[in-house]
Amino acid sequence: MKINREWHLEHRMPKNPTFEQRVAWHLEHEKNCKCRPIPEKLLEEMVNKKAKPNKR
Ligand SMILES: [Zn+2]
Repeated sequence: MKINREWHLEHRMPKNPTFEQRVAWHLEHEKNCKCRPIPEKLLEEMVNKKAKPNKR
């Protein structure tokens, strides 16, 4: 697995991220880096809350 270090340096997860912040972070992360997948728990929450971020 390759870490996109530059992306990580520029996109730090906030200290106490809200649900939306975590979702947004992971969606961006998935596009830019493959060091780890979106956690199952977060995916479940996304489905539960029907969160549809990533619309810009
Ligand atoms: Zn990464």
